Amino acid sequence: MPRIFSGIQPSGELHIGNLLGAVQNWVELQSRYECFFCVVDLHALTGAGYEAAQLAKRTRDMALSLLAAGIDPSRCTLFVQSHVPDHSVLMWLLNAVTPLGELERMTQFKDKSQHLESIPAGLLNYPILMASDILLYRADLVPVGEDQVQHLELTREIARRWNAAFSTGPTPILPEPQPMLTVAKRIMGLDGDAKMSKSKGNTIAITETPEEIWQKLRPAKTDPARKTRKDPGNPEVCNIFDLHRYFSPPETQAEVAVKCRGALWGCLDCKRVLADNMTAALAPIRERALDLAAHPEQVDTVLGDGAMTARRHAGETMRLVQDAMGLLPVPREVRREA
Ligand code: ATP
Ligand code: MG
Repeated sequence: MPRIFSGIQPSGELHIGNLLGAVQNWVELQSRYECFFCVVDLHALTGAGYEAAQLAKRTRDMALSLLAAGIDPSRCTLFVQSHVPDHSVLMWLLNAVTPLGELERMTQFKDKSQHLESIPAGLLNYPILMASDILLYRADLVPVGEDQVQHLELTREIARRWNAAFSTGPTPILPEPQPMLTVAKRIMGLDGDAKMSKSKGNTIAITETPEEIWQKLRPAKTDPARKTRKDPGNPEVCNIFDLHRYFSPPETQAEVAVKCRGALWGCLDCKRVLADNMTAALAPIRERALDLAAHPEQVDTVLGDGAMTARRHAGETMRLVQDAMGLLPVPREVRREA
């Protein structure tokens, strides 16, 4: 069965953009592939919103939300990146073959470093850690959105260079992973200005209460042409209509479009219907999340089992990699201690 690796940062709450754009797809992949899903807390250290006091909670909450959304630990491996130290070890080894120029060329690095007075090296080296995440499990496929294609291409380049330098057998030790492009669903934030992002505070979390959903939708941006209730609107440019496409049945979508174009109702009426449908769609996820929140030890057990499985696979790769790179094997007594 081909193997998949995918990660998500604990940079905030899992939101409907993550759900529709990534996690629903993960849930489906579980039955067809051997999947490794990782809460990439080490990556979050370089993010703008990183706070030490929040990280552990955010990491556990992210795992909880993934489980609530349908990630099933009996069919995949769910774990936390920092629980498998080999991610960081392999990263250092891959540093040896990664060209600096390629790192500096990355769009995400250019974007994120632009406004910083002092640029942490971690921002530049981020793609090497991502390469190590994927190559550590020798994943065949990586589900990625458009924004991560460039990083995955660099992972492939790093694998090629490393294999050329160190892999002498008939099959490369670090296979080049292929991108699995997910159908581009791009959910805009409630501000209507930018993509919905955990770190931007323009989200609806998947575990939000019905009242919270309503309070967030109420002030959300709609077609700016609808200044008053009497102005007809254009659903094609309205973010609320876009959300109806994901949460309301086709007949409701058709009705919403007619009522918007004909100014037959106000934006609040339209949002009310959306809030009800979104609440209904998220209800089973919220229920599972509440259940897990009442039993946090269940989440910890899943993450413990996941880390054990991940460590085993990572260890196999590391033995091959360290041997190929000529490192002196760790003495047997030390290995036994570990
Ligand atoms: P951050 O603000 O920390 O970048 P994020 O909300 O953008 O957080 P990521 O961790 O960058 O989330 O991405 C997790 C997954 O969710 C990725 O596969 C990404 O493509 C997908 N994703 C993120 N935001 C959206 C969105 N608004 N619409 C659709 N998919 C999204
Ligand atoms: Mg993002």
